[in-house]
Amino acid sequence: MATRQLLETIDELGYTLASYKRQGCKGFTCSKENLDRLNHLDEWHPQPSQITRRESLDAIREDLGDCRRCPLSETRRHIVFGSGDASARLVFVGEAPGYEEDQQGQPFVGPAGQLLTKIIHAIEMTRDTVYILNVLKCRPPKNRNPQSDEVVTCSPFMVRQILAIQPDFICALGRFAAQTLLETSQPISRLRGRFYDFKGITLMPTFHPSYLLHNPDKKREVWQDMKKLMAAIKKNKH
Ligand code: URA
Repeated sequence: MATRQLLETIDELGYTLASYKRQGCKGFTCSKENLDRLNHLDEWHPQPSQITRRESLDAIREDLGDCRRCPLSETRRHIVFGSGDASARLVFVGEAPGYEEDQQGQPFVGPAGQLLTKIIHAIEMTRDTVYILNVLKCRPPKNRNPQSDEVVTCSPFMVRQILAIQPDFICALGRFAAQTLLETSQPISRLRGRFYDFKGITLMPTFHPSYLLHNPDKKREVWQDMKKLMAAIKKNKH
């Protein structure tokens, strides 16, 4: 078998097993039932239409292109797509690029980003082992709040990115990320500190690092949230 074919087969097997896992399958036994199934492979194996092929981050970036879908494209310098490990177990979702992010084309590289980096280190990870992205890919002028039409236009890319990465956990940073992902208007002070479900992925909302820069007393609550998240990640590993 040619290497490419072999890699495609392994890829396909990965998607199939991930699909079984999402449907609640916890493993396979050599029970008579399963052996019978194996003897009727055609019936047991999902039909091609049942295999949900995972989109790649590169394909999503290509689709985003030189985006002109909303007026933020007129004032941005760079699109900030996201950065990190494309198969990370944990994804951080922020609001929108700020000045530094717009200049560099990278998420969370300004003062809030430095604090986020410390938070990531505190949970024994690095920026390279997680993935960081935003609800909006372009900077709102003067860092104003995202407008609902901008969120409606841009957030499908965020959802596609998360589904492409298929992490086990999401940490929603601040009101906009949490409210957009959970489709709620509840305040972040109510949402934070608890686990929610986003399309089968465990989601923890917490305060945004920018908010912490102005309200350092809230770091205690974020640390409590991160401890819960870290414990869940560790538990999930075993
Ligand atoms: N704030 C965000 O929400 N995202 C960034 O990338 C930077 C600051």
